[in-house]
Amino acid sequence: MSESSVCPQPRLTTGETTAGFQIKRVVGIPEIRVTAYEMEHQTTGAQILHLHCDDRENLFAVAFRTPPRNSTGLPHILEHAVLAGSERYPVKDAFNELLRGSLQTFINAFTYPDKTIYPVASQVKADFYNLARVYADLVFRPRLLVETFRQEGHHLAWSEGQEGKRTLTVSGIVYNEMKGAYSSPDNLMYKALQENLFPDTVYRFDSGGNPRDIPDLTHDDFRAFHRRFYSPANARIFIYGDIAPEEHLLFLQDVLQGFPRISVNSSIPVQPRWEKPRTAKGVFPIGREDDPRGKANVNLAWMLAENTDEETVILLEVIGSVLVGSAAGPLRKALIDSGLGQDLSPVTGFERDYRQTVFAVGLRGTDADKAGKIEALILATLEKVVRDGVDRELIEGSLHQIELQGREIVRKNYPYGIVLMSRVFHTWMYDGDPLHSLNFPRLIAMIRRRWQEDPRLFEKLIQSWFLDNPHRLLSVMEPDRTLLEEEETAFAKRMEALSATLSAEEKERIAEEQENLKAFQTTPDSPDAVATLPRLKVRDIERQVEIIPTEQAAMNGTKILRHELFTNGIAYLDLAFDVSTVADDLQPCLPLLGKLVTQMGAAGRSYTEMAKLIALKTGGIRPSVNAGFVAGGNGASDFPRNSWQQMVFRLKALDRNIPEAMEILADLLGAGDMTDRQRLRDLLLEKKNRFQASIVPAGHIFARRLAGASLSLPAWRDEQWHGRYQLKYLQDLSGAFPDREALVEELVQLKTSILSRVGLTVNMTAGAAGLKVMSERLPSLLTRLPVGREKEKMPPPSLTPVNRGIVIPVQVSYVAQALPAPIYGHRDTAALMVASRFLSNGYLYKSIRIQGGAYGGMSAYDPLLGVFAFMSYRDPHISRTLRVYEEAAAALEREGISGEDHEKAVIGTIGSLDRPMDPAGKGMAALIRHLSSLTDAYRQHLRNEILDLRREDVRETAVRFLEKAVGKSAVAVFSSEERLRETSERWQGGKLHLERLAME
Ligand SMILES: [Zn+2]
Repeated sequence: MSESSVCPQPRLTTGETTAGFQIKRVVGIPEIRVTAYEMEHQTTGAQILHLHCDDRENLFAVAFRTPPRNSTGLPHILEHAVLAGSERYPVKDAFNELLRGSLQTFINAFTYPDKTIYPVASQVKADFYNLARVYADLVFRPRLLVETFRQEGHHLAWSEGQEGKRTLTVSGIVYNEMKGAYSSPDNLMYKALQENLFPDTVYRFDSGGNPRDIPDLTHDDFRAFHRRFYSPANARIFIYGDIAPEEHLLFLQDVLQGFPRISVNSSIPVQPRWEKPRTAKGVFPIGREDDPRGKANVNLAWMLAENTDEETVILLEVIGSVLVGSAAGPLRKALIDSGLGQDLSPVTGFERDYRQTVFAVGLRGTDADKAGKIEALILATLEKVVRDGVDRELIEGSLHQIELQGREIVRKNYPYGIVLMSRVFHTWMYDGDPLHSLNFPRLIAMIRRRWQEDPRLFEKLIQSWFLDNPHRLLSVMEPDRTLLEEEETAFAKRMEALSATLSAEEKERIAEEQENLKAFQTTPDSPDAVATLPRLKVRDIERQVEIIPTEQAAMNGTKILRHELFTNGIAYLDLAFDVSTVADDLQPCLPLLGKLVTQMGAAGRSYTEMAKLIALKTGGIRPSVNAGFVAGGNGASDFPRNSWQQMVFRLKALDRNIPEAMEILADLLGAGDMTDRQRLRDLLLEKKNRFQASIVPAGHIFARRLAGASLSLPAWRDEQWHGRYQLKYLQDLSGAFPDREALVEELVQLKTSILSRVGLTVNMTAGAAGLKVMSERLPSLLTRLPVGREKEKMPPPSLTPVNRGIVIPVQVSYVAQALPAPIYGHRDTAALMVASRFLSNGYLYKSIRIQGGAYGGMSAYDPLLGVFAFMSYRDPHISRTLRVYEEAAAALEREGISGEDHEKAVIGTIGSLDRPMDPAGKGMAALIRHLSSLTDAYRQHLRNEILDLRREDVRETAVRFLEKAVGKSAVAVFSSEERLRETSERWQGGKLHLERLAME
C-alpha cells in the first residue's frame, strides 16, 4: 500500500451509462482512501460495487443469496462442486488448478447461513483477470457432473471391514467435513442458537449440512438450485483494488453476456418477534471417560434490530462492546465473578451474519441446573447498568476501538479487501446501503450527536432492546459421553437395514459406481482441457525480493529496529525478550505468564481500571512466544546455540495516543501486580478453555506439532507453548489451583528474570511521525524495566521420537507424520520447499482428499523449525493415510514431476513467499527475519535458487531426503479411541502410544 491518503479521482459519474452498465452512485470515502462505484448491469440486473483505491492486491468476489430449504447442505456442496469445471474450462478440479498455477493471494469460497461468496485476489493484473474470468465462468456455468456431486456431496460405498467383510457406508468430502464440524462443541453451540432463535426462517436449517440429512440430497435438486440462485440477476459482485472501474466494466460486460434477466426471489424472510422468551436444550460430545460435571454451556441471546436499520445496529454494537468487550465490561465481570461457570461462553458478542442481528452472552464450564441463576444474573446486571448509568469511559473506549478498527489496514490470513467486503455484505445482502459501515468517522459523529442530544441514550437502548425485548432465548448445551457412539451405532444400523433391502443387483451397482467414481478420479484431465486455463509462466515472475525498510540502532545495549511504513496513523511497538535462559520445565508457563502480565492490575490500578485504559488508549497489547533456528547453522546438530526463543509484547496505538499507550505498557511490564488470585484463576481457566476448544477444529495442526516435537528444539518449544503439551499443562495447573501456594511467587520470579533490559530487542513499525514519538519515549519506557544480568542459555532436553495416538471425541481423524528437515541456509532448502508444494497439491491432494474422501491432505515444510510434515484433516482413514505418506518417496521416484507441475509448484512456492502483508505483519516479519538471520541477501539467493531449480533436482533431492529422514520420523494421530486401537493393532509401523486428551 502506498503513501497516498486521498481517494482516487472519480472516473465515472453518477447517472451515466457505459458499456451496458448504469452508474448508480459514486462516493469518496477519504478515511479509507477509497472511491466507491455502485453500478448495475442493464441486461441482467447484476449489482456491482467497486471500491477503487491504491492497493495493488485486487479482489474480485461474486456473491449470491442462497437460502437453504432443508439441512442437506445443498448450498455448501454446490459451493464445492461449481469449482470442479465449467463448459469452457472442463477440468475436474479447476479450483486446485488455479490455486497451483497462479499467483493468487487468496482464492476460496464461503457458505453462510443465507449466502455464498466466491472471492479471488492477486497482486498481478494479468493474473487477477485470469482468475476472475475463470472463477466467474465456473460460478455462472459449471458442469455439475454427477461424479462431482458424488465425490463432493455423498455416495454409498462399500468399505473393507474386518476379515474382508464389506460394509455399506456413506462417503463424500462435505459429508466428512461436516462430521468433523458436528464433533466441535463450539460449532454445535452456534448452530443451536441460530436454529432456535430464528425458528420460522431459513436459519432453522444448516446450510453447511447435517451429516444425517446430507444423504437425502439428489443431483436433480442440486442442479435446480443452481439454475435458480446462481444467475446474474441474483448476483452481487464486489471488486476492490487499484484497477480502474472502466476496465472492470469491459471485463464484466464479457462475463455477463448472454444471460437473460430473470426474476429470482431469494429474499430472506424476517423472523417475527416473539411474545415471550423461550428456552432450548442441546447436547455436544465429550469423551467416554470425561467427567460431564461442570462442562455445560449456558447462553442468553436476543434477536435485535435488522442489519439495514444501520444507526440502531451500530449503537447496539457499541452496547455489546461496552457490556462484554473488555474485562471492565459489567456483564463480563458479573458473570466471571459469580463463579457460576469457568469463563465466558464462546458464543458471546454481537453477530451480524443474519438478516436480524443477535447479541449473545453466557458461561462455559457450568451445569445445566445453574441456567436459571445465570439468566437471572444477566438480567439483574442489565437492570443495574440501566439504573446506575453506563460508565462513560467504557463508551469512549468502544468509540476509540471503532475508530482504530475502521482505520487499520489489516491483512492477516486474507486480503484487506475481504475485511471491507464482509462489512459491505452486512447491509448490501439485505438491500441496505453497502457503504454504510465503511464510513467510520460518520458513524462516530452520529453516535456522539445522538449521545449528546440524549445523555440516557444507551440506558434507554438497553432497556428497550434487552430488558423489554421478549425475543430472548435461554440455550443450554450439555455434554454427552455416549453421543458419538450412539450416532455411530444408529448410522451402522441404518446402513445395515439399507443393505438388507438391497437386491444383489443393486449391491453390485453400488460397487460398480464406486469403481466408476474411482476411475473418474484417477483419470487425469486431457491436455486440451488443462490448456483451456490461462496460466502464468515462471518467466512472468518478479525476480527481486521485496524488502521491508529496516533501520538498526542500539541504545545502552538494547537493539532497536525501526520500519518506516504507511500505517494510516497507527503505530506498532514490539518488545522482544530472550527466553532461551528459562529452564525446560518452566517453559510451558510462558504463554500464561504473557496473558497475566497484560491482563492483571498494575501500578496501583485494578485489572478493570487497566482494562478500561487499554481500550481507551491502545488497540491492545498482545503477548506471543516464538522460536526458530538461526539460518546457516548446522540445524539440529548444533542447537541450542543456533536457535532463538523470544517472548514478544506487541503494543498497538493511534499515533496521537503513543505517549499514554507506552506509559500503560511500562506499567504492565514494570509495575504489574500478580497477587489477585481470583483474577489469576479466572484468566487461567479462560486460557485453558479457549485452548481446549481450539483442538478439534485444528486437529491436523496439533497432530503435526506433536509429531514434530522431538525433532528440534524450536519444534519442542512450539509443542510446549502451543501444542497438546500446553493443554495438559494448563489442565494440570487449573486442577491444582488454588492449592499451589507458591504459584504466584514462581510467576513473579520468572517474570522478573525475563522482563529485563538484557538481551532485549525493540521493534517499531509506523509512519515517520509515529516512529519519532516512539523513539523519544523509549528511554523512559526502558528505565521502567530492571537492568537484568546475562545468563546461560539452557541446554536442550534430550528428545526421542514416539509414535502417539491422542484420543479425542471426534468421528474423523487427524493424521500427521513429521521428519527432521534442513533449516534455512542449507543447500536443499529451496528444492524441499518446491517438493513440499508439489506433493501437497498433487500426490497428497489426490490420494487423501480425492480418493480417500478426507477434507484435506497436505505436506508442510518449515525450515524455521527444521520440520517437514505430512498431514490429513477430517480424515475417514488412518492406516491407509499412513501408507500414503510412506509411499510418497516411491511415488515421486516412479512418477517424477512433469514440466507443468514443476512450474506450478515453483509459482506456488514464490506465491507463498510473496504473500502480501499488512504494515503490522511486515513489522513482525522483519523482527523474525532479524532473529533468524534471514538477511535480504540470503532471501534473494533463496528466491533465485527456487526460480532456477531443475525438476530432476527437485525430485532427486526430495526422494533422497524422504528416504533418509523417514527413519527418524514420528507419527501423531488425533482420533477416537476405537479407531486408534484398531490402527495400533494393524499398523505395520508398530504400536501407537495411546493417550487420552481429557476435555476437562
Ligand atoms: Zn466445505
